[in-house]
Amino acid sequence: MRPLKIRESRLPDLLDRWCSTAEVWAPRAAPGGAVLRPYEPGSDVDLDYGSFLEPPVVLLSACRSGASAASERPGRTSGGDVPLVLFGIRPCDAAALELLDAVPSRSGPTAASGLRPSRARTVVVLACTCPRMSCFCTSMGGGPAGVRGADLLIVPAGGDLLLKRQTARGDELLASSADLLTPAAADVVHSAAETVRAAEEHVALAVPGDSFGEPSSAFGTAAWRELVESCRGCGVCVTLCPTRGRGESSAEGGHDDDRPAPHGEAPAGGDAPEAGRATLERRDRWWRDRLERRFGRGSVARGGPLCVGCGRCIRYCPAGLDFRSVLRGSWAAR
Ligand code: SF4
Ligand code: SF4
Repeated sequence: MRPLKIRESRLPDLLDRWCSTAEVWAPRAAPGGAVLRPYEPGSDVDLDYGSFLEPPVVLLSACRSGASAASERPGRTSGGDVPLVLFGIRPCDAAALELLDAVPSRSGPTAASGLRPSRARTVVVLACTCPRMSCFCTSMGGGPAGVRGADLLIVPAGGDLLLKRQTARGDELLASSADLLTPAAADVVHSAAETVRAAEEHVALAVPGDSFGEPSSAFGTAAWRELVESCRGCGVCVTLCPTRGRGESSAEGGHDDDRPAPHGEAPAGGDAPEAGRATLERRDRWWRDRLERRFGRGSVARGGPLCVGCGRCIRYCPAGLDFRSVLRGSWAAR
């Protein structure tokens, strides 16, 4: 099917149309970064953000009940029957939502992506035009225009937006707004391809695709020791991960979605160095579990890595830690 296009200046018309039959969520600028929020006609939409401050699975918890303010607009079927359109989420977050749907959570298979399974959901992915140095989606099988989990892909192309259908749900959305769209001419398709190529190059600068090896081969190296010793155990990386909740428990009962061990308390009248050593040992085990489960051969046996390369855990780490140094080292050791 030939891609369609719309002038970027007419995006509000498109969203208003979708809004008449669905609850639409769209990116909005906020201090420190973009957030995903219910869209109302006239709302501002941010298309130039890097990634959401929080992964969509956190922000979308309000959709569980289908009872947000946007779903209660006059003239629209109320409550959970209102279909949901997630507009403008990045490819890594769409891939994470699909992963959450596919992999049972630790509390059971029905809590997928924070959304009730019965609720119709159409995911409109916005190709990423400004990857950060912390992004490594291409190493995890995705990319700035990845379509995993997408029903519709939108790629900026000069002053136009190119729309490419991915699923029947995407078709339905396009059909509901057909009068606003026109077939894309070759120059628009070419411009969109250039947009994607430039973004892919930017990610490749940060991490060459397929550059990671088996994590266990790097355990104990200098890069490994620095990671374990510098980690503060704050848990920011765990909280912001878009696939949080799909890890596994270790044999010792810990879980890689739990916060890594904070610094141990010295027992009353006890030995502070001993507490410090115990903390380091626990943190060492946590990091081994986390990297093996997310990137190791075992993760492939479970259906694929539990990481989409969004880079939040690197970008927002208060200690400035980048575990890719360990994964790159494991590649060198192969
Ligand atoms: S955010 Fe950084 S310091 Fe905090 S637990 Fe994660 S890796 Fe350690
Ligand atoms: S482990 Fe880090 S890079 Fe991978 S999905 Fe989670 S937050 Fe993103």
